[in-house]
Amino acid sequence: MRVLLISTNKIRVPRPALPIGMAYISAALKHAGHQVDVLDLLWESRELKAVREKLTTGTYDVVGIAVRNLDNLTFIDPVFFGPMTEKIVQCVRKYTSATVVLGGSGFSVEPLSFFEYAQPDYGIAGEGEAGIVQLLDHLESGGRLESISGLCYLDDNGRFCQNQSSQAFDLGALEPDRSVYDPRYFEEGVSAASDLTRDHQPAIETLQTKRGCKLFCSYCIIRKTEGKGDRFKEPAEVVGEIQRAMAENPAVREFEIVDATFNYPMEYAAEVCEEMIRAKLDVPWYCQLTPNAITPEFVKLLHAAGCIRVDLGTDALTDEALADLMKGFDMARVLEIDRLFTASPIEHTHCVFLGGPGETPQALRESIRFTERYLNPAQIYANLGIRILSGTKLQRQAVKAGILREGQGTFVPAFYVEPAILADRDTLDFVRDAYLSHKNWYLWWGLGGQNLTDRSTETVQAVADMHQEYEYVMQGKPRLERAPKPAAQPLKLTIGTK
Ligand code: SF4
Repeated sequence: MRVLLISTNKIRVPRPALPIGMAYISAALKHAGHQVDVLDLLWESRELKAVREKLTTGTYDVVGIAVRNLDNLTFIDPVFFGPMTEKIVQCVRKYTSATVVLGGSGFSVEPLSFFEYAQPDYGIAGEGEAGIVQLLDHLESGGRLESISGLCYLDDNGRFCQNQSSQAFDLGALEPDRSVYDPRYFEEGVSAASDLTRDHQPAIETLQTKRGCKLFCSYCIIRKTEGKGDRFKEPAEVVGEIQRAMAENPAVREFEIVDATFNYPMEYAAEVCEEMIRAKLDVPWYCQLTPNAITPEFVKLLHAAGCIRVDLGTDALTDEALADLMKGFDMARVLEIDRLFTASPIEHTHCVFLGGPGETPQALRESIRFTERYLNPAQIYANLGIRILSGTKLQRQAVKAGILREGQGTFVPAFYVEPAILADRDTLDFVRDAYLSHKNWYLWWGLGGQNLTDRSTETVQAVADMHQEYEYVMQGKPRLERAPKPAAQPLKLTIGTK
């Protein structure tokens, strides 16, 4: 079949992220014998015009819309991508008779709400490689919808069905189809202009060594979107993929492992590093680590394998907040890890949330003083507040704190910022001044000289407007009822297996 894949990601900070999810879907489709064309809206200033032009110059049986993010996850500058996706679906309907399929981690966060809002023909929740191939088989030859991995659809009674996602294709045997990447991702000027932390950012490639995560942070739904982090590429396959990607694209100078937590489990990450050393890879790279699983030996191994920078999922800077977020480590550990990386040649960044559940203005101020006094990272990336997602402990806390209503969905952006902090102008000024006075501390997505209290007030209003607009759009659309779970199990997988 002829398939158009549209990547809808518009986030360019800190640098444009390669659409690796779309590249995996393209690889799975080509592997199954389908023709694939792509449209990457990151590079289009007029998205709908670009979609229309693509649809009127090509003929497609299926249009897959990849939603990487539901929104930009940023309380102080929220952007909701639901409306743009809905308009793209309408545009596809207007100009073609192609089957419309929504997917990606942004769709998988809230499949039912997204489905009733954007009204595609189908959605695929969770990992999409198996599901999209099975769906195209179904469109060509028929069969049971109930058997398609992760498929979202309406049954004969108009009820919403969501099949279980098999999450079992062989990640090791399927490499992303890197031919779908726009060459502009690899222009050094583009990367450098949009990167917050480096004057010079060489062109990079990305890869996954595994999907999902074994940990249980209180706000995170990665198990729903990516799985449990228990399927791995063989270390030799990781190295082989890097070598091939760099050979195919000579512009690439560095790479990033984009696993949510490269070092959990640490034994596997160590094997990957050892394989890089054995293969004399000699390429600078970076990754995201949890402070949970780092030892002095592991830091040495990272360095020997070529790692130059790590982003630490520290998340909070008090014992109480770390416990509340269920991080599994405390401040003594944060200090220990900070010292380990400070003593190593590897640059380290702490990524943190400010104003999470239970954090008092006093605790927030103390955590900032502690950071100034004892921590020595190359950067701190901070977010005021945490995006609330359905089915999490954070959602329950938000209901208890009066931030969300009982039963309120989280499809439209909703953020947990401790109300006592939002109401405390002095503390918000203190936070802003602290972040402005350290040139390597960043409050996403930049604050300039703006007053954080005013900015927060504007944000609360902006989010309220998004909710109002959503309710207005939904007035003309049927609310979906969930069908009982289908009895059938997903089909045995047909792609990515050797
Ligand atoms: S470590 Fe990261 S990916 Fe894993 S559960 Fe926590 S927030 Fe999610």
